[in-house]
Amino acid sequence: MFSYRHAFHAGNHADVLKHTTLIAVLRYLMQKEASIQYVDTHAGAGLYRLDGDYAEKSGEASEGILKVIQAKQALTSPIVLDYLEMVNSFNSTDKTRVYPGSPFIIHQLLRHDSRDRLKLYELHPTDHKALVGNVAQLEAGRAIQIKSEDGFEALKALLPPPLSSSGSRRACVLMDPSYELKSDYARVLDSVQDSLKRFATGTYLVWYPVIPRTEAHDLPRKLKLLCQPIKKPWLNATFAIGRATEGDDNGLSASGMLVVNPPHTLKGQLQAALPELEQILGRGPGQGFLVESGG
Ligand code: SAM
Repeated sequence: MFSYRHAFHAGNHADVLKHTTLIAVLRYLMQKEASIQYVDTHAGAGLYRLDGDYAEKSGEASEGILKVIQAKQALTSPIVLDYLEMVNSFNSTDKTRVYPGSPFIIHQLLRHDSRDRLKLYELHPTDHKALVGNVAQLEAGRAIQIKSEDGFEALKALLPPPLSSSGSRRACVLMDPSYELKSDYARVLDSVQDSLKRFATGTYLVWYPVIPRTEAHDLPRKLKLLCQPIKKPWLNATFAIGRATEGDDNGLSASGMLVVNPPHTLKGQLQAALPELEQILGRGPGQGFLVESGG
């Protein structure tokens, strides 16, 4: 069984990039009336304690969301401010104790007139149980469905999404594996390829680690190549906090988000957000960001 537990990493710099991007994409999609089917293929536990054993042991949030909160006064990027407000909405004003994972972020933005649907997949038995318990508090009814199934496999049956009352089909998929298994890289690629065949106009968000491993390096390149012949627009953003001290190669220091069929507004939003995040979270050699698009 997997040993990865997102509770150790919740609110780190990778979550800051991932969740800022996710919220910006969702806000854009929700400007149109028609209903949307959201799929979170790798959901995690949904909600995390930043003052719990896991987070305190790793201290990763203190190099991520907690630093962003401290720097609030200096922030001007609307999408980072929006992300911060989202996290704050789960906390009282004095201390940030709770961090919302992607299921809770998406749920917060769902239109609660039973228009939108959210499908969550989580394979780890402990995190699945925690997710079920956390989501139960939301009393979301039919709007949220949770399954202890392989998210890549399950996605096949969900695309194309059902017709909305206005006769359109809309879907947004977040693929956020832990890449604990080397096979995850190839599975993401296959899954995006298959999904685009089933539903070419869906918005697909893929998070990936930037690490010195061939598969990790190749994934964004292969995703871009996949989009080229079928003329699908893509956006790729990477964000690196660099090394705190020379020779410190412990832990993840950079990650990326590749979005297929991104909102046209996303590039400008990230180009404004990432310099601010670098200013706040950058630690030294290797820090920086990239925003590129094509298709
Ligand atoms: N998306 C979450 C968020 O942003 O809050 C974090 C997800 S975490 C990076 C990845 C999760 O995927 C882990 O909880 C892991 O147990 C789960 N997982 C791993 N392989 C899976 C699979 N094939 N299908 C569904 N879940 C899987």
